[in-house]
Amino acid sequence: MKPVDFELHRPATTDEAIALLAEHAAEAKVLAGGQSLLPLLNFRLARPDHLIDLGRIAGLAQLRRTQDELVVGAMVRQAQAERSPAVAAHAPLLAAAFPNIAHPPIRNRGTVGGSLAHADPAAELPAVARALDAVFVAAGPRGRREITSRDFFRANLMTDLEADELLVEIRFSRAAPHTGADFQEVGRRRGDFALVGAAAQVTVDDGLLSDVRICLTGVAQTPHRAVEAEDLLTGHAPDPALLARAADAIRDTIDPSGDLHATAGYRRDVAGVLMTRAVTGAHRRATETAAEAA
Ligand SMILES: Cc1cc2nc3c(=O)[nH]c(=O)nc-3n(C[C@H](O)[C@H](O)[C@H](O)COP(=O)(O)OP(=O)(O)OC[C@H]3O[C@@H](n4cnc5c(N)ncnc54)[C@H](O)[C@@H]3O)c2cc1C
Repeated sequence: MKPVDFELHRPATTDEAIALLAEHAAEAKVLAGGQSLLPLLNFRLARPDHLIDLGRIAGLAQLRRTQDELVVGAMVRQAQAERSPAVAAHAPLLAAAFPNIAHPPIRNRGTVGGSLAHADPAAELPAVARALDAVFVAAGPRGRREITSRDFFRANLMTDLEADELLVEIRFSRAAPHTGADFQEVGRRRGDFALVGAAAQVTVDDGLLSDVRICLTGVAQTPHRAVEAEDLLTGHAPDPALLARAADAIRDTIDPSGDLHATAGYRRDVAGVLMTRAVTGAHRRATETAAEAA
């Protein structure tokens, strides 16, 4: 099928885009990389009268470092961030997530902000943002505001953004030294959305886990931050008995739905397994980083 007719707008600045959104909010859609939106348009599941393409706004496609943060513009392409040494150094979990997203051609077009604004609970980047307590910066006719990752994801495909607001950038605190990360998932085929995924980032301090961050995909309507498991693991070495307790804590707290592809029981079970693998991998990388620095 083909999309219904729409008027395409190609603003050159964020202010122009906001003015267009203010004028057409109810009938408009923002276009980033198009990797989720274009299929929706083609199937006529979205029928906007106006499409506001952010592709010409250079200011939204920048990646920069401040003293404490890595700031990712909403239009930074997933492939650009995947190749960035700054992302690898300062947000290792973000770097670990990208190879799991779809295929390289999709990451060449897809943007970091587009994936977050789309808010698919099976997607990798929302889980990364939630694990790292990223801060979302929205801009609209009433000015700019910051949204915590806890508040940003409201429900399946729903965020805290108002219809006349743009996501302009996402801020990640820079990782401490001796930090490692890993992203583990299971899917039906490589490149498909995962059935369940586990994101883990840990810092190693004297051989013990500190600043443990774990978030799961595919087990709830929004990314699920596994705080019980984080609390159990913090301050300890990740030995098998402790990881098994953390996995049980996850299975006790999540309430996933079943569907055509996986039962609720399978998702619950595999979430604990993937968390164990992700924390083990993150710990190994953090230990290697510490050894290289010594
Ligand atoms: C075959 C295939 C496989 C895929 N597999 C995966 C996968 O395994 N994991 C995964 O995470 N993703 C996957 N994707 C989705 C891909 O990552 C998309 O790139 C991403 O979900 C959306 O990013 P985009 O830049 O393409 O956004 P678009 O498709 O352009 O937009 C998505 C939505 O976000 C809104 N939006 C975009 N940017 C902004 C903004 N700055 N402010 C406000 N609203 C905005 C749009 O209006 C739209 O509603 C897959 C896609 C395809 C086609």
